[in-house]
Amino acid sequence: MDCQFLPICPGGLDHMSATDVDRTRPNVHLRIGGERLNFGGGGVFEHIDPATGQVDALVPLADAADVDRAVAVAHDAFGSWRRTRPAERRRLLMRLADLIDDAVEEFARRGTLDNGTPISTAAGFVPQAAEWTRYYAGWADKIHSDVTASFADDGELGLTLAQPYGVIGVIITWNGPLISLAMKIPAALAAGNTVVVKPSELTPFCGELFADLVEEAGFPPGVVNILPGAPEAGAALVAHPLVQKVTFTGGPVTARKILHLCADHMKPSVLELGGKSANIVFADADLDIACMHGTIMSVGVLSGQGCALPTRMLVHRSIYDDVVDRVGSMAKSLPVGDPFDPTTLSGPVVNAAALERILAIIDRAKLDGARLVTGGARLEGALAGGYFIEPTVFADVDPESSLAQDEVFGPVLAMTPFDTDDEAIAIANGTQYGLSAYVQTKDLRRAHRLAEELVAGEVLVNGARNLAVHRPFGGLGRSGFGKEGGRAGLEEFLRTKSVGIA
Ligand code: NAD
Repeated sequence: MDCQFLPICPGGLDHMSATDVDRTRPNVHLRIGGERLNFGGGGVFEHIDPATGQVDALVPLADAADVDRAVAVAHDAFGSWRRTRPAERRRLLMRLADLIDDAVEEFARRGTLDNGTPISTAAGFVPQAAEWTRYYAGWADKIHSDVTASFADDGELGLTLAQPYGVIGVIITWNGPLISLAMKIPAALAAGNTVVVKPSELTPFCGELFADLVEEAGFPPGVVNILPGAPEAGAALVAHPLVQKVTFTGGPVTARKILHLCADHMKPSVLELGGKSANIVFADADLDIACMHGTIMSVGVLSGQGCALPTRMLVHRSIYDDVVDRVGSMAKSLPVGDPFDPTTLSGPVVNAAALERILAIIDRAKLDGARLVTGGARLEGALAGGYFIEPTVFADVDPESSLAQDEVFGPVLAMTPFDTDDEAIAIANGTQYGLSAYVQTKDLRRAHRLAEELVAGEVLVNGARNLAVHRPFGGLGRSGFGKEGGRAGLEEFLRTKSVGIA
């Protein structure tokens, strides 16, 4: 399967077969200030392999007391980290990027163990994570202050200083356990902050290896602390008085709770939330590319469990029937199966709750009058123990229906026809989300117009890749606020101080 659109499936594991892969679960620890703790106050989480439905590891969980200790350690480390020469911060981050690159097979394996991401996709995230780390390493010694006025009318010199916040609370979700770390930690460190990170309790294995590599790269103890923990640990992190800013990736329900806590403590936050991104296919598009992109990216990659995936396909009526047919048959032929098999494109969804939720959404869509083109059921046979759902395509989806309005976070595509550009824009903009939007057209004027008009944090034309590090990523509306990537992603971790000298 050709996955040219994404850096998240180039594979690189061609020499491997499913039976070669070591499926041993790594031990997980709380990583606080260079210490590895086997136990946390939050008890133990039974990690379930989504490909089999069986408990496969016991993971220690942090409680509020562990979080308190980690934040105190990070606060102490901040005193010297902020004064560490920028060139040294750059060197350490560059070293970390190299170590991430070198660990491609182990990170791929762990990504699969974490949440059932197919191993080729998980492998593709590794160079991407290294790229994000290297990019922000490059910023570490290029953060400069401005002169706002040199002895202007009032005879005063005006300056701004770009300063780190202090301890950043990092909370991430389970669908991209490595890339989410790489999208947040290097930028925070490059800017001179220290971090306390709470990965999702569902995906503890990549974080443990990331912590190993941070240590191996030579970062001073306490600069990066990683604690697996349940929601209570996340809440303790947000509320901690020494945590100066919170950066969160997850769902809108949790985001609201975090915002309330941030309000109570007068704390700023970056919120990277969900999406219901439209993919508008015009009649002049290269339909081979548009259909493959629209299928793989909606119901293939990550089994649809990606915030920015194009989950609504709006197709010009003149090509609608043809595109529905093509997408339906491609979806039907996607390789779904054992995530350890390097030829698998689509694995299980993350857990039993997600499986039940997605199947209920499929039932509701049928009741709402959408036409089921393919899929719609849990996979049986050898995969029956795991949480596998057939890649599912619905056509004739009412733009106001819940399938078109609400994030599924599963392998379900909603297709809808349109007649005019304005109608397409109106439908695309007609949800509460605003993370990404996709346009397939050869007409440059149309592409530019849509880039202007679409209400989204990013507009990707003709299969441009997701999560390019130099382009700020982040949504609006129900998709959250703040940016990761680019200079804007660095600036989230800096605050401006003004200085006037008379
Ligand atoms: P979630 O919101 O339930 O959990 C995310 C993290 O928050 C976990 O680490 C969890 O333990 C923690 N958490 C839960 N309750 C908390 C609380 N009260 N206080 C502090 N922390 C708490 O995540 P989910 O809904 O299962 O994740 C899927 C969502 O993430 C989807 O909506 C998806 O679109 C979104 N997502 C967004 C991006 C992005 O970059 N925009 C990327 C990936 C996923």
